[in-house]
Amino acid sequence: MAPSRNVLVIGGGAAGNALTILLRRSGVAVDLVEARQDWNATAGSGITLQGNALRVLRDLGVWEQISASGYGFGSVGITAPDGTVLHVQDDLRTGGDDLPATVGMQRPQLQQALIDAVRASGATVRLGTTATIVGQDDDGVTVRLSDGHQARYDLVVAADGLNSATRAAIGISDKPEPTGMAIWRVAAPRPRGVTRTDLAYGGPAYIAGYCPTSEDTLYAYVVEANRDRATIPPETYADEMVRLASAYGGHWPEITKTITDPAQVNYTWFDRMLVEGSWHRGRVVLIGDAAHCCPPTLAQGAAMSLEDALVLSELLTANSTWDDTLLNAYYERRIGRVRAVVEASVQLGQWQLDQVRDADVPGLMARTMSQLQERP
Ligand SMILES: Cc1cc2nc3c(=O)[nH]c(=O)nc-3n(C[C@H](O)[C@H](O)[C@H](O)COP(=O)(O)OP(=O)(O)OC[C@H]3O[C@@H](n4cnc5c(N)ncnc54)[C@H](O)[C@@H]3O)c2cc1C
Repeated sequence: MAPSRNVLVIGGGAAGNALTILLRRSGVAVDLVEARQDWNATAGSGITLQGNALRVLRDLGVWEQISASGYGFGSVGITAPDGTVLHVQDDLRTGGDDLPATVGMQRPQLQQALIDAVRASGATVRLGTTATIVGQDDDGVTVRLSDGHQARYDLVVAADGLNSATRAAIGISDKPEPTGMAIWRVAAPRPRGVTRTDLAYGGPAYIAGYCPTSEDTLYAYVVEANRDRATIPPETYADEMVRLASAYGGHWPEITKTITDPAQVNYTWFDRMLVEGSWHRGRVVLIGDAAHCCPPTLAQGAAMSLEDALVLSELLTANSTWDDTLLNAYYERRIGRVRAVVEASVQLGQWQLDQVRDADVPGLMARTMSQLQERP
């Protein structure tokens, strides 16, 4: 690979940060632009990271931080709405036997571990900055940054999330579509007895669940049919979540009494999108949620985004010619695996929306997750 190669990464979420770290390791010059001045360092409640995500995070060199600040576990409990445990299922170790099946984490802790690694990688980071593609040819892309800086890159990577402006700018018209569900999420203190994810199906919501994210914390969530956001004033968010969560037993009463601050409660619709055909136009290529997104029914969105970064960096650093053939190879290596995850994640939600009672939920989950044991 030519040592003078340079790449612009647009977006500093899991995908963009991971790609930056991996490319810098191979000596590629990387500029990372991130729209938010705070780099999303304090945003979000919790995240469930399964083995295949942990495997990439270990490759990135941040496993020590993840392991120290997260909460590892190896099973999921299925409960009745009253909290009675109906079934405990062992999670598959999709990242291999030397990693936990699952780690719950506070999102800011994950983001901080990646930010620290990007900073240490020597990439140039511009916060509060966006990028406009001015033009491109067979050799590269000319970009104007919102700070007035103009530069030329061998490759531009759109890691700017599910509403990617870069995706639209290169003529890919796919957009996220609502699946019909929405989720209320909050970070809360961890009751001592919560040592794994428990999911209650039924009751007033489709799913009520929680996931431990550290010795002291968890994140709790309730999934219901989506509603017009304009009809839910943000100052009522805590009341709305408490109204739904109050119907659940087990550890829920202890969790629910801590849900008091509406500013800490997040309300998000579930979306789906899968760009088909190819994930690039010329020298601009999509990774992560910019290329695909799905409801978190398998907790695989960030995992797929991290895997995209890993595969793209492997191809870019192993090949001296960065052309259509290489970027098509990236798409071909990713599409089957990502499609299986997106379709299964959407199906799991759709069965609930359609109130299908005899759906093979464990079978679909097991089939999909077992495919993820193989390296991407
Ligand atoms: C409710 C919910 C729960 C989820 N739970 C899980 C889970 O438990 N496990 C899991 O693996 N996945 C989960 N996911 C999915 C996961 O959050 C995403 O798949 C993942 O964050 C995608 O990472 P990304 O880097 O592609 O995009 P993002 O994290 O969205 O990052 C995009 C970045 O680009 C920046 N940006 C946007 N526009 C521009 C621009 N024009 N210029 C520069 N920067 C820009 C943004 O500020 C942001 O920092 C969940 C998703 C949802 C909605």
